[in-house]
Amino acid sequence: MGDFLAWYHTIGEDSMTVTLATSMATVLLGVITMIALRWQAKASRLARQEASRTRTIEARERARVQNLAKILEISNRINANLELEPLLKEIAEAIRQSLGFRMSLVRILDDENQSFMARAFAGIEEEAVQKLSSSAVPVETFKTWMKDEFRISQSYFISHEHGFWENQRDEVYIPDLGERREGEWHPMDSLFVPLWTRDQRLVGYLSVDDPEDRRIPSMETIETLEIFANQAVTAIENARLYGELGDHVMQLREMTRRLKELNEIKSNFVATVSHELRTPLTSIRAYAETLSRDWGSSPRETEVEFLKIIEEEAQRLSKIVEDMLDLSRMESGKVEVKKCDTDMVKVVEDSMQVLAPTARKKYIEIQAETGEEAVEAYVDEGMLKQLILNLVGNAIKFTPEGGRVLVELKDRESAVELSVEDTGIGIPSGSAKKIFEEFYQVDSSATRRYGGVGLGLAIVKNIVDWHDGKIWVESDGGKGARFTVRLPKRKAIAPERSQAVECDETWQCERRIPELIVDMIAELMDAKAASLMLVNDECEELFVSAAMGLDEAIVKNARVKVGEGISGYVASTGKPLLVRDIDADDRFACNRRPQYETRSLVSVPLRQGGRVVGVINVTNKISLTPFTDDDTEMLQILADRVSAIIGKVRHYEGMKSEFGSIITSLRSLIDSRRMSQTRKGDKLTSLVVKLGRSAGLDEEEVKLLQYVSRIYDVGMVKVGEGILRKRGGLRVGEYESVKRHPEEGVDIVGPIEFLEQVKEVILHHHERFDGGGYPGGLSGEGIPMGARILAVVDSYSSMLSDRPYRQALGVEEAIEELRRCRGTQFDPKVVDRFIELLGRSGVEVRPKETI
Ligand code: ADP
Repeated sequence: MGDFLAWYHTIGEDSMTVTLATSMATVLLGVITMIALRWQAKASRLARQEASRTRTIEARERARVQNLAKILEISNRINANLELEPLLKEIAEAIRQSLGFRMSLVRILDDENQSFMARAFAGIEEEAVQKLSSSAVPVETFKTWMKDEFRISQSYFISHEHGFWENQRDEVYIPDLGERREGEWHPMDSLFVPLWTRDQRLVGYLSVDDPEDRRIPSMETIETLEIFANQAVTAIENARLYGELGDHVMQLREMTRRLKELNEIKSNFVATVSHELRTPLTSIRAYAETLSRDWGSSPRETEVEFLKIIEEEAQRLSKIVEDMLDLSRMESGKVEVKKCDTDMVKVVEDSMQVLAPTARKKYIEIQAETGEEAVEAYVDEGMLKQLILNLVGNAIKFTPEGGRVLVELKDRESAVELSVEDTGIGIPSGSAKKIFEEFYQVDSSATRRYGGVGLGLAIVKNIVDWHDGKIWVESDGGKGARFTVRLPKRKAIAPERSQAVECDETWQCERRIPELIVDMIAELMDAKAASLMLVNDECEELFVSAAMGLDEAIVKNARVKVGEGISGYVASTGKPLLVRDIDADDRFACNRRPQYETRSLVSVPLRQGGRVVGVINVTNKISLTPFTDDDTEMLQILADRVSAIIGKVRHYEGMKSEFGSIITSLRSLIDSRRMSQTRKGDKLTSLVVKLGRSAGLDEEEVKLLQYVSRIYDVGMVKVGEGILRKRGGLRVGEYESVKRHPEEGVDIVGPIEFLEQVKEVILHHHERFDGGGYPGGLSGEGIPMGARILAVVDSYSSMLSDRPYRQALGVEEAIEELRRCRGTQFDPKVVDRFIELLGRSGVEVRPKETI
């Protein structure tokens, strides 16, 4: 700069030069200023950028801290919950509220079905909740969603761009987000977080939808979700452990109670048996001593009488020993049961003849009412005689002189009912169940009046069990007792394992389950004959796993090639088949066998994971009418249940204890159908189907409702026949027990039912539209539609039947009653539709069965 000024002064005198120099200096100054300004602008921009970056970092840190605080708060809430249901709800709700998703869902693994069931929801409407609850996601299916290309961190984000879902996603929840921009959440996007335990077991998954900011979730959100998932797994495991602990405590309490009871029984047993043995022994000894001492000195008649007494007492002794041996054989399963078609009328008559002299001695009138015609049942004749002798023997023993004993035999479609009624001392209500236990006696005191060791009824109960029957007693205090035994007339049989094709070990070794499945099918389909056939993959053949109403030889040896005959045809096409008249059907000309009593049959495939694994056939309706399309649908619905059971049995592999719950479930279902009170016929089902369609249910829902209409009162088996048949009003405890039947029903079907929808209808069929029903006190549309429909049809059909406490109403009266309860007990819209339906079909819907 110094050089520049010197130069400026040296040229000062020359004005031209001066002007030029001045201009140059100005330009130079401008350039310098401009450069300086630019530097300044850049510097301040950099400073601004730096400040903004600091702010962003601070905001992110704040968000992280807030997120952590939320997680902490939610974790506390989650961990405070030890019950699984509320806990899962808490998790779903927490995700929705804290992570900005409008919808969240938790699915948990159902071990038995190997499927994920929707267990908790947040932000989903009731209708969608119902749909989600009834749709299970098999574990195998879920695993196909866990592709590496979808994986982000531990989660899976399936973007709509993959076109992965096509038509397969259940469109239960589709948020309407309108136009979307780059990076926005799309209705077909899915985000799942698998729930892995520490030992790498998949126990469920979380899924979220419809983010409030409409953006595809950031990595931070996904990571937060995963933290939730980890928390959820720990909490779920804790809740499970807690639940199991509770169960164990209950079991322990029950076992302690039982032990005490057994101890008491043992003491009683020792006292009773020694008393019962000592009495005859004392008299045998006394008479024998007298005879040997005075032999020849007493009159001959006295000696003969003494010998007779000795013989009778010896017989009494050997009867006690025989009873004990019988019971121990039956209980250990070492008894040979020889069942065959037997005329029950003859069995009753023969047994009565044996007991007539004993009754005569006590001036007791004994009478048998059996009807004229033979009633055939598939039973062991010897065992049945023993059963009747024990029951009638007791009736005579516990009835004072001059009393009356009545034996009745009733034919009840698929079962026979035998009852023994007396006018004796009766049984206190607290002992009604216990008297079937061995050695239990109402009066076990040393001073008791009646002999016996308390084994007779235990033997009876065993015989009933060997026949898959049921026994119960009704007694009104001191006014006598009435024992009733119900035995199935037919029996499903499964071939011996050694003779069956070695298809699947576990399945084959359990003959009991296939037998019960066939029994259940026959009962629910009102069919005389039914069979379950399974495919043997190796030789592409079907073999009979169990059958009812077929000759035992056929059951053992029948093999059908896939593709041949009726079952083979169904197995190869995988489609249900209804044959209305086998004679008129050219496809199956060679199948016209005598077993087709009604010439009509239904055969449906048994599918598992899209593969046909067997076939179920039913023939010969009890009503002798042909099967219908509705029957075919019904059988297909049943086949889906059967598939699930087979799946479960295979899954359990050798865990035989688990079969117990399935067996109990099947037995109760069968039993509930045999209870005349709960037997609902075709007409009720067809009304439910029509009403369901007219009320706008989709076909899938109608099908399920059709199935439920045959089983919804299954819980009644737990209520007890005594209460159900009572003529007078119910006592408080009895009414409470009746009110529990919907919950009992859900418990019963639990081990064989995989759809929540089915259980919900069973659970809520006694709710009232005005909220005054049970068990949930639900009201209005909060009651599942199926349950509202069933409530109307069930009440209508009950009104048309006789009940022990009232006579049947006429159709007009029943309709009037429905109108009267419209809006209070029943959904008004459903009642209107129903009355319209009745008017349209001009039906008189009186169920066949009355009590
Ligand atoms: P036992 O008759 O040898 O005592 P059971 O097993 O046959 O043994 O009966 C068990 C108990 O049930 C009897 O002791 C009695 O208290 C009661 N019981 C059985 N049948 C009747 C009946 N018909 N009336 C009254 N009580 C009965």
